[in-house]
Amino acid sequence: MTDKKTPQLDELENGKWPSFVTEIKKAAVKNEASKELLHLLEKSYVDKRGHWKHGGIVGVKGYGGGVIGRYSDVPEEFPHLAAFHTVRINAPSAWFYKTDSLRKICDIWEKRGSGLMNFHGATGDAILLGTVTDELQPIFDELSEAGFDLGGSGSDLRSPSCCVGPARCEHACYDTLDACYNITNEFQDELHRPMWPYKFKIKFSGCANDCAAAIARSDCAVIGTWRDTIVINQEEVKTYADNGMDIQAEVCDLCPTHALKFDHNKKELAVISEDCSRCMHCINEMPKAIFPGKERGASILLGGKSTIVQSAFMGWVIVPFIKLEGDYEELKDLLRRIWEWWDENGKTRERIGETIYRIGMSKFLSEVGIPAVPQMVFRPRSNPYVFWPEEELK
Ligand code: SF4
Ligand code: SF4
Repeated sequence: MTDKKTPQLDELENGKWPSFVTEIKKAAVKNEASKELLHLLEKSYVDKRGHWKHGGIVGVKGYGGGVIGRYSDVPEEFPHLAAFHTVRINAPSAWFYKTDSLRKICDIWEKRGSGLMNFHGATGDAILLGTVTDELQPIFDELSEAGFDLGGSGSDLRSPSCCVGPARCEHACYDTLDACYNITNEFQDELHRPMWPYKFKIKFSGCANDCAAAIARSDCAVIGTWRDTIVINQEEVKTYADNGMDIQAEVCDLCPTHALKFDHNKKELAVISEDCSRCMHCINEMPKAIFPGKERGASILLGGKSTIVQSAFMGWVIVPFIKLEGDYEELKDLLRRIWEWWDENGKTRERIGETIYRIGMSKFLSEVGIPAVPQMVFRPRSNPYVFWPEEELK
């Protein structure tokens, strides 16, 4: 195996970016499975097809998710890859680790796995790539001892994730880290025991900049916003103007709803509050002069996902404004009602957005008990979900 060449993979080390091939080569010095992985991958590029197959269910005691079974379809050629399972670790909010915690994970993984890790996977988990079935329970036990838990996989709640929020960002309209942590702890059963038609992802972004990409990548996006009006500091507006900023061109003209008016003589900015769609553009451009409003909370969007049964969807607003305080009871209650409806109506491998798409938003809203409001826009600014029950039309 050692003297085999990997010309296709070597190509991927060219260029200025870090290369996963280089990292696998480093792991291959210490680990036989990582060495075989290089050659399996090379074979995949030559054959133009992957050499992994789905096998039986693997996991740890009491959990239905958190481990993804991986098996090579050429185990005779690559015996160390006959089983090469992936372990997902539920990451801390916004990925804040202490170095000693990271060392603990690395030590466990070097001892019991391939040493290859991915920080972080698409859902937000820390991903440990490649171990055998017999090592799964010891890995889980040692991770638990170190204070970590497995993340979600399969048809369950996937590990919730969030943007860095108030830890480092002045735009945060709520505490994304706390919300993510609280919701994760509340829904442990949903996270560890697959019981739904398919997966369900929750992502928390502190404002409409949506650094967690929640609108596109989560079934439920919790995106920070405000109910009142943006706050403008006119002194700072003047400073921006005096320093040469073209406020009309760079800010007002790019406001998507033309909600801003700039008085060139007085160097003052005004907002038509009811026209502001809370897009964050002006705040991003003039962060010292414009701030989110004071009555802060979040919008809840539902249905974002990549192509599966239907094409890719962005999330739709289902609650324009919700306060995110205390123990998040309002959000938790809403999630429970949504899941109950989806559990009864969803088909296997159908994401919540697809179930709503198939059955209809009006039925979903009335059965889950969510009032229809004009902010529920299907395609932004073209097709609002406005409906009335028949008795109200008579
Ligand atoms: Fe800051 Fe908003 Fe990005 Fe969160 S989504 S990190 S609050 S800019
Ligand atoms: Fe316009 Fe967006 Fe600023 Fe609102 S937040 S005033 S919509 S640029």
